[in-house]
Amino acid sequence: MSALLQVTGLAVSYGHIEAVKGIDLVLHAGEITALVGANGAGKSTALLAISGLLKASRGAVLFDGVDLTKLAPHQIVARGVVQVAEGRAILTTLTVAENLALGTYARKDKSGVAADLEWVYALFPVLRSRRDGLAGNLSGGEQQMLAIGRALMAKPRVLLLDEPSMGLAPLMVQEIFRILKEINLTGLTILLVEQNVRQALKIAQRGYVLETGKIVLSGSGQDLLDDPKVVEAYLGG
Ligand code: ATP
Repeated sequence: MSALLQVTGLAVSYGHIEAVKGIDLVLHAGEITALVGANGAGKSTALLAISGLLKASRGAVLFDGVDLTKLAPHQIVARGVVQVAEGRAILTTLTVAENLALGTYARKDKSGVAADLEWVYALFPVLRSRRDGLAGNLSGGEQQMLAIGRALMAKPRVLLLDEPSMGLAPLMVQEIFRILKEINLTGLTILLVEQNVRQALKIAQRGYVLETGKIVLSGSGQDLLDDPKVVEAYLGG
């Protein structure tokens, strides 16, 4: 198994408060890695530092031999590390198709765009049927699909997701996790940040548990699901 992206000693502070306290993570090529933990554990902060939207105070994020903490967010996207934002961040006054087109701005291979659009519409048929409608008229779950679709249009090599299940009805949560697995089966490497610990670990090959800014447990998704500490703290056991 080769490490596609490696986080070492990553720390991030808000003023004097260190929210992420020196974490190590490895994303293996083609795997889903879940970063789970309670509200406020520092998951979003870690993800924002990987995508360059927050500055790391210490540590490195190595991808293709380059330390991403030294790059600007647009340079990180151009290298193929693309984040689907929490709260979706789609543009509600643009159409579905226009939102998807926004994902392609950093691409140099314009020829592949049409094929990827077909793939995204095949993954999310509702986006095809609503493509000329305003994104603001989509349901919450459909907006999450659009946010994922837009990130896929950037042709990522690593997809970073921040709580894609947040605020969605249970059936929609199931559907989103099913589609993430389908996307992963095409070979795409995914880092999935979730409070929905059970669902995330179920689809992840590897997982890390974050508590108050530190990794306290790691292992295969199944090992963590079976771990008594995880069961007790996160699975209502
Ligand atoms: P959630 O699931 O709620 O997003 P999380 O695990 O992603 O939780 P973070 O949002 O990364 O956690 O927050 C980690 C810590 O940093 C928390 O104590 C939070 O209060 C604090 N924090 C987050 N954003 C800021 C900010 N902009 N300024 C100051 N402190 C912040």
